[in-house]
Amino acid sequence: MSSHEHPHGRPENVLGFTEDSKVFIHDAPLKDMFLHPDVKHRKIVAFSIIGAYRKGKSFFLDYCLRYLYAHYPSIKYPNNPVSDQDEWLGDEDEPLVGFSWRSGSDRDTTGIVMWNDIFLHTMEDTGEKIAILVMDTQGLFDNRTSPMDNSKIFALGTLISSIQVLNLVGVVQEDQLQYLQFATEFAKYAASSSQGMAGKCFQSLMFLIRDWDNPDELYYGIEGGKKYLLSFLEIKSEQKKELKSVREFVHSSFEELSCSLLPHPGKFVTGARKLDGEKFNGCHKGMDHEFKDELIFLIQYLLKPDRLILKKFNGCNVKGHEFLEYINQYFVLFQS
Ligand code: GDP
Ligand code: MG
Repeated sequence: MSSHEHPHGRPENVLGFTEDSKVFIHDAPLKDMFLHPDVKHRKIVAFSIIGAYRKGKSFFLDYCLRYLYAHYPSIKYPNNPVSDQDEWLGDEDEPLVGFSWRSGSDRDTTGIVMWNDIFLHTMEDTGEKIAILVMDTQGLFDNRTSPMDNSKIFALGTLISSIQVLNLVGVVQEDQLQYLQFATEFAKYAASSSQGMAGKCFQSLMFLIRDWDNPDELYYGIEGGKKYLLSFLEIKSEQKKELKSVREFVHSSFEELSCSLLPHPGKFVTGARKLDGEKFNGCHKGMDHEFKDELIFLIQYLLKPDRLILKKFNGCNVKGHEFLEYINQYFVLFQS
């Protein structure tokens, strides 16, 4: 095992487009995950991040994996989590491994990447075990991906996740909202063959704003984010029709909306400066303190047991094997 590999799991590019725009799905890893005896009959939490390439999505998810491995047993690593759960961030020099980050230039596929290890959480009140899936997206909005392929990946990612993090830099961009709107159109179409859409089609959406540079006006974190989102999503009478309709759609499609503002991570993280004379390996020693504190807070907020949100299709929770059926069903639409 090289020092750049994770000891327990690995990313699987399960569905998407190849460089020459061919659609693919990889059945074997999907079956291994969702028909696993610990997952097949368990309800699913699908945690996903989506947004343009090279904006720190995989980097963020790899720290989420650290939290998850410290707090929940998994199908590949069923041992009890580490004894001191506050130590989840790990050693300050530890290289960051998991979903490959910083890999903008060696892209060859666009699509959905799933962590092939699934975490298990026992609910305190009922004793029921639920399964937590972690998903990344890659290649979106780079100059080689067509707008149609972007739309489809965006739609699919939104459709199959229960906690969707929309990763943005600086501000919320209107074009990203348009992609979200397309995702619901797709969802309604996908559901029209079954019993129709019951209630709001999607569960939780968090707008994650990276490199927020206006802390004097709105401070970092969830509270600042809440105010930002309220003003951004406000529907005003003088707004253009399209801007209004996309806002109405966001409100009516998600059960829960939130936003978080993260500071700039500093020059080591962006690679603008070397750390100890070496190429930055993702360790948290290289982060600006403010960023590190906010990152810790945000991950703890997002992934703590009482905020795990179950995936619903057509208003009903789904178990591992049903989740796999939905993925296959959506994949057929994806090909057209
Ligand atoms: P992805 O393509 O969105 O998955 O981006 P990566 O996670 O591969 O990160 C791309 C680059 O951005 C890497 O050099 C990271 O170190 C850096 N990075 C990570 N987090 C942030 C952030 O919050 N802001 C900025 N400006 N860069 C970041
Ligand atoms: Mg990535």
